[in-house]
Amino acid sequence: MKFLDLLFPPRCPFCRKFRMEEGTCGECEKALPFTVGKDILRKEKGGLVCAAPLWYEDLAREGILAFKFHGSHGAAVDFGRRIARCAAEELGGQFDTVTWVPVSRKRLRARGFDQAQLLAEEACRHWDTRPVPLLRKIADNPAQSTLKGGEAARRANVLGVYEPHPRGEIRGKRILLIDDICTSGATLRECIRVLTDAGAESVVCAALAHTREQAKK
Ligand SMILES: [Zn+2]
Repeated sequence: MKFLDLLFPPRCPFCRKFRMEEGTCGECEKALPFTVGKDILRKEKGGLVCAAPLWYEDLAREGILAFKFHGSHGAAVDFGRRIARCAAEELGGQFDTVTWVPVSRKRLRARGFDQAQLLAEEACRHWDTRPVPLLRKIADNPAQSTLKGGEAARRANVLGVYEPHPRGEIRGKRILLIDDICTSGATLRECIRVLTDAGAESVVCAALAHTREQAKK
């Protein structure tokens, strides 16, 4: 046990119970809502392809919400490993560059971290690479989860809020775009549009979890 572990004892990233070591506890590992078979890869009209190891419900939802608001290193390591494994199995060979869906500068200041960046960094450790910033969020729009009015409202809410990162090399790249969750898919679709308009050859996505209703479309 490292010194820091005494100050911040590891917790299971899903049930948040204290543990002797980092990682998911046995009970949660058994109870997690895993996607299986064709449900792992969500494919939708408009070019959205997103791999996710979990459904965004029950324990997975609790774990992601806790991560968003408390941001623990242990959770990032666990979630990043799951995303890396899932993306390698479902999307291996389809990307040469990894990036993430960024939060706005204002949100970053308030929260102190960018959760999708942490996930992308931890996922990339498994591939001996680093994620690169290719997108920038230029408006502080309301969170998608707070919107009423369904798909059209979600699409309108994210329109124009991302732009290519000024230092990002996008042209000709085959990109893996990482986010924590994929619910309506509106955010990912908008980011794909921005990257494609900036010359990306292709964009595929990976998240820790996606929603069941949308996946059936
Ligand atoms: Zn647990």
